[in-house]
Amino acid sequence: MNRNLFKESNPSRVVIKIGSSLLEEGEDFLRRLREDILFLRARGTQVVLVSSGAVLRGKEVLQLYNIPPGKVSTTSKRQAISALGQNHLMSCYEKLMREKGIPSAQVLLTASDFRNRRSCANIEQTLNELLNLGALPVINENDTIAVEELMFGENDILSSACATLIHADYLLILTSSEGFLMDEKRQEMIEKIEKKHWVAAEGPSGPGKGGMKSKLKAAFLSNLSGCICAILHGGKEKPIQRLFNAEDIGTVIFCPQKKALSTKKKWMLFAPLQGKVIVDLGAQEALLERGASLLPVGIKSISGNFFPHEIILIEGMSGRPLGRGLAAYGYNDLLAMLSMDPNELQKNKAYWRGKELIHRNNMVLGFDDMGKL
Ligand code: GLU
Repeated sequence: MNRNLFKESNPSRVVIKIGSSLLEEGEDFLRRLREDILFLRARGTQVVLVSSGAVLRGKEVLQLYNIPPGKVSTTSKRQAISALGQNHLMSCYEKLMREKGIPSAQVLLTASDFRNRRSCANIEQTLNELLNLGALPVINENDTIAVEELMFGENDILSSACATLIHADYLLILTSSEGFLMDEKRQEMIEKIEKKHWVAAEGPSGPGKGGMKSKLKAAFLSNLSGCICAILHGGKEKPIQRLFNAEDIGTVIFCPQKKALSTKKKWMLFAPLQGKVIVDLGAQEALLERGASLLPVGIKSISGNFFPHEIILIEGMSGRPLGRGLAAYGYNDLLAMLSMDPNELQKNKAYWRGKELIHRNNMVLGFDDMGKL
């Protein structure tokens, strides 16, 4: 991919993700960001912002009232602090954009909102309406009500889920680093995410919860839907304008896909996992090499109380995640099936007909490797 393509490209939608560390820079950063947003809008591009910072702002609010924040150690404390802070975060954006006559809208989401396709369609419709009204949607995770097990936890993946949902052409992750670094050297372009990249990617370092690993993951996931990702230094002058003027800044990550994913499979990438099955070597090979569906006969163990049509993780016996899929039936039915005499069932091929736990068309394989390296 050539950087000049940025100059020629006319994106219809862009998602910009802001990390908490950038908000520590205050007004200067926000004004520069506004310049970049106005630049895109002037080109006819619809912009969605995903902004962290509720917890950061919440701590500032406590200081304002001389309340010691203490450690944000418990979930309920974090939830309360983010409720205090989200208000302030939003009022910054509201004021910033109102000065230019642009309404901004708060959209708070949790991972459980991505649990079924109907609620995803609802989110998509609302965002479409807001964009058509000319508003700037400002999305954050709803930290105040999200429970640990149903949280994105950081906004990199949430931004990637939103970019996928609204069919954005670009996901621009603004952070406080020059881009994706390897041996302290900025990578200009990544066209294939390899093991060395996962190894080089680090966890969180500043006030945010993400870090490079989750940014790489977000890039990887958005690329699967044809969305180009760039990691840019948000502390620098107008990084987005410079990117679209084909300047060599940040890291562009784009791994073109041979085949576009269906809408259903795109949804499956972000739906929260409700359970896990561990498969034996025969099933692993059948899934990966022969394009088979997953039958209960190849399952060694199951966990999580999942229901039909929920997303579960498929793991190999070595602990290697193989992919994820839509379970045709729930935990209880599967358990009942697995407790039947395996020798009898093994012989009885007719019994298994139509009893795939995960049909081939309801499975995405190969991407769950990324978190475990
Ligand atoms: N949602 C969190 C907040 O607004 C931030 C999560 C993150 O650091 O990505 O504070």
